[in-house]
Amino acid sequence: MKRSALLFFAISGVLLHGAEKKAPQPNPIGYSDTPPIYPGSPWKVHDIDRPRPGAVKPGDKPGAAPADAIALFDGKSTAALVGKNGAPCPWKIENGELIVEGGDVWSKESFASCQFHIEWKSDPKTAGNSQKKGNSGVFFMDRYEIQILDCDNNLTYADGMAGAVYGQTPPLVNAVRSAGEWQTYDILFTAPRLEAGKVVEPAYVTILVNGIVVQNHTKLLGPTLNRRATTWDGTFADKAPFRFQDHKNSIPDRFRNIWVRPL
Ligand code: MG
Repeated sequence: MKRSALLFFAISGVLLHGAEKKAPQPNPIGYSDTPPIYPGSPWKVHDIDRPRPGAVKPGDKPGAAPADAIALFDGKSTAALVGKNGAPCPWKIENGELIVEGGDVWSKESFASCQFHIEWKSDPKTAGNSQKKGNSGVFFMDRYEIQILDCDNNLTYADGMAGAVYGQTPPLVNAVRSAGEWQTYDILFTAPRLEAGKVVEPAYVTILVNGIVVQNHTKLLGPTLNRRATTWDGTFADKAPFRFQDHKNSIPDRFRNIWVRPL
């Protein structure tokens, strides 16, 4: 054999060997020979048969509603909201923003555990101080207020600050932007667990204000009360509407982009 032919076979051998080594191996998409995740678990570790979660298309930018969210206010309509005793929503829309004026409003639909998003801003020129400055709030299940307040250079009691569970738990930090700027709240709410209408496990809430954690799985002590301690005594509905507070600021707060995902 000529020297060139030998060289050809030698190089081919190296290439083939290399190709053989690099042949793509299918990656396992699960296992059936692993132990249960815990004794008695229906699923093994990395179980190939465990149902995979479905897809949800995220919003087109941070804060935008995911495809499966229920819009409570989308900038165009107040159709998902009502006023007192089911009256038409008294709040007006201006430039796609909801003006917080005319009394409290409620969601038409009732909710329990959920993921919730809202954007709000207070007017820097609104008069007053402490709780009389940019005050509003989101009541989960019509009962548990997460405080909205202008906390930009505005001293008030700790459990009444923006991101507080009102009257119960102050935010971990004051995470508000300057008055007049849009603020975002992203909230995970776990409804209380009931047996025959009685609370057997309290509600919990996790809150991010402008992307900053201010409540981390905070246990609620009961429905929101003003200047009184609360308890879980009494009976409760398993679902209830959101309530949005009009606290009668001299210049109303504004809301936009309110959505919820039941969990
Ligand atoms: Mg309030």
